[in-house]
Amino acid sequence: MYKIPLADLKNIILESKKITPRDLEEKIKLKINELSGLISEEGAAHIIANELSISVVRAVNSKLKIKEIYAGMRNLVTVGKVLRKFDVREFAKGESTGKVCSVVLGDETGTIRVVFWNDQVARLDKVQEGDILLLKDVYAKENNASKEIHVGERTEITINPEGETIAQVRQSSNFQRSKISELTEGSEGTEILGTIVQIFDPRFFYVCPNCSKRANETEGQFQCAEHGTVQPVVSYVLNVILDDGTGTIRSTFWKNQTNHLLGKDEQEILRYKDNVALFEDMKTELLGEQLKVMGRIKKNDLFDRLELNVQLVEKANPEEELARLEQK
Ligand SMILES: [Zn+2]
Repeated sequence: MYKIPLADLKNIILESKKITPRDLEEKIKLKINELSGLISEEGAAHIIANELSISVVRAVNSKLKIKEIYAGMRNLVTVGKVLRKFDVREFAKGESTGKVCSVVLGDETGTIRVVFWNDQVARLDKVQEGDILLLKDVYAKENNASKEIHVGERTEITINPEGETIAQVRQSSNFQRSKISELTEGSEGTEILGTIVQIFDPRFFYVCPNCSKRANETEGQFQCAEHGTVQPVVSYVLNVILDDGTGTIRSTFWKNQTNHLLGKDEQEILRYKDNVALFEDMKTELLGEQLKVMGRIKKNDLFDRLELNVQLVEKANPEEELARLEQK
């Protein structure tokens, strides 16, 4: 069974006009009683939908809007605009290492993260933010209470398919606003509103063009652990300290997020590589800037402190922040 949130399930049933809201609530209670409480409200709603011959999910072969995607669906087809492309992240798993990269797709109904693992990561090479992706044969999973699409070997990807447009994107966020003083290790999906109080110079390094893993220089040649001798490409990372009044946190911006933070493209940023003095102006400009950053909290064991691995960055929007305060 797909994991459809109860509220959605009820809406789908009510949209059929086969039952009134009041009768539906009544029937759900009856079902639960009938089955001596052995089912949840969701379970009861599914049984009622079934009894009324209401299909709660659209036929799998049809193209689904993002809000119609539920964890547990397989072989699904969807289309969306790439709102963000994250940097490739490497991880260790026992003896071996793996890598993962993801993008955020959006359509008129919402946004969803699409995850590419290991060999699939290379399929994102030609994908840029703003592209439209048509994905065929992907599956949906739940991760940290939000749904994700995963790309498999059989997935077909079409970049900017003819005739597909996404007029407007409905922004939805799964990030939880937190105070810096209350952060805990390992929490995913953390959002912080903080002011830049310190900026370090960007650091540049070489990566393998095939897999984006670090390429190490030995005797004038660059080696990738997986691809051997390679012609490397330059990548970079930028660290800033954010302060939200309750504490400070070192925040790491990898390449794509550095581009977003500085509002510059790769070519412009590479100029700082040979002349880091040029970066001083940028520092002046950014110090005191208030940011909304979203990402994952990790522990830096060496320095025994928590750090933020930034996945999304936006300039803080004062109106939005005021509205948030008023809500409380
Ligand atoms: Zn490589």
